[in-house]
Amino acid sequence: MFKQSRYNLVSTAMDGGVLITNVLYNVNIKFPVEDGEDVKCILKEPSLINTEKQRKIYDSLVKNKILLPDDVDEKKYVDYKCNEIIYGNDMLHLTIIPTDACNFRCKYCYQDGPKHVMKTETVEAIKCYLDKNVKRFNGLFISWYGGEPLLEKEIVIDIMQYAKNLCRNLQVPLYGQMTTNGYNLTDEVFDELQKNHVLSYMVTIDGNKETHNFQRPHVTDKDSYTVILSNLKAIRDKIHRNNFRIGIRINISPEIIPYLNDYVEFIGKEFGNDKRFGIIWEWVKNWGGERICSNYDLVMESYDKTQYERYLDKITEKGLRMDRGQALNRLGSEMCIASRKNGFLINYDGKVYKCAMALFDSDMEQINCLGKIDSSGNLLIDDYKNSMWVGQGAIPDGCAECGHYPECMGLLCPLTMKIKNRFVCPHNLDKEQSYFARNEEKMGKFQIIEVSD
Ligand code: SF4
Ligand code: SF4
Repeated sequence: MFKQSRYNLVSTAMDGGVLITNVLYNVNIKFPVEDGEDVKCILKEPSLINTEKQRKIYDSLVKNKILLPDDVDEKKYVDYKCNEIIYGNDMLHLTIIPTDACNFRCKYCYQDGPKHVMKTETVEAIKCYLDKNVKRFNGLFISWYGGEPLLEKEIVIDIMQYAKNLCRNLQVPLYGQMTTNGYNLTDEVFDELQKNHVLSYMVTIDGNKETHNFQRPHVTDKDSYTVILSNLKAIRDKIHRNNFRIGIRINISPEIIPYLNDYVEFIGKEFGNDKRFGIIWEWVKNWGGERICSNYDLVMESYDKTQYERYLDKITEKGLRMDRGQALNRLGSEMCIASRKNGFLINYDGKVYKCAMALFDSDMEQINCLGKIDSSGNLLIDDYKNSMWVGQGAIPDGCAECGHYPECMGLLCPLTMKIKNRFVCPHNLDKEQSYFARNEEKMGKFQIIEVSD
């Protein structure tokens, strides 16, 4: 007896075909529109097979693990994989903040206060830490965050170069990621970063010139929009390697809504059909801090977002990749790195934290700050505090039955789940699933299953 996998995600393709994704088994298959009804019937009731065509569809569903033997406990398997990811030595995840200074004063930003730069002693301590620890792992992931990390580009390059040489000697893959406002991301800087394995970027353009410059004012330049756009175009035109991805993020506020259609048209015209570029679709939220209090009319909480989701299919039509800011559809890809035993944030002052978003919340300092890195590269951290963030524990209601469980493993945000005990799943993954599936189909990710009569 066979049953449907509880982690199948079924969507309708642009041409009416059936798209089936299963992250647990890394399956993305498409059935043509003429087989759609049969596929849906078999998924609903696998034992009802009446025709030869249905038999062939059934066999291909079994072969691709969309249908499984009745006695398979898939959740147990996800939890086993989850423990491997959380406690295993597969990947060392470091987020590094070289400075908390920024050249922008975005109206929704939660960061404020005096500005600092990482000292040389801390940079050297991080290198010592890498020397002592990278050999224990199968991969090193370094994420650059701020402030604006490119205000201290030399620190970024220095550490990435060191990590590159170390990882090359140890034959360990190195992957760098950066969240930057893009103002200092010229093609020359990009070239240097990319050669040192910073391969994934999130750069924000909030709508058109007027809305961007309004929502994201630069400290001195009244038109940062033009600078960022020309940087991205120069990267598009002058960098010929294909091993990087830039997610262009838009933070949608009521100010931007009237221009959303034009935005997608414009970004599509400039960057569509270039798989190196994609869009990260985000709604302005109250991300904390003081500044949003006087700009609360930018927050989208009370708006009906669904009416704007139609633009998501338009992104696909324009040949733009849709990003969530990280690799999609992988086991654990939506799990916050603070959930991992070996996921740490090193601040400019050498203090070691778990959560970047809680960095400026003084009430959270006690539980968020695990300790510090010493000059010999040892993490002097409180294991008990780390354990408060790490691991599954009691997962929220509904997670076990949710098709996205293999992606987030019930660990979307340990800050709200485990520390504040206030988690309510936003179900964003559900809402956007069909749009993402169609987008991935356009990007060539689905294998077409042909079943002839
Ligand atoms: S946290 Fe949300 S998306 Fe993740 S498994 Fe639970 S219900 Fe699904
Ligand atoms: S714990 Fe939550 S708020 Fe903190 S970085 Fe992770 S997802 Fe973001």
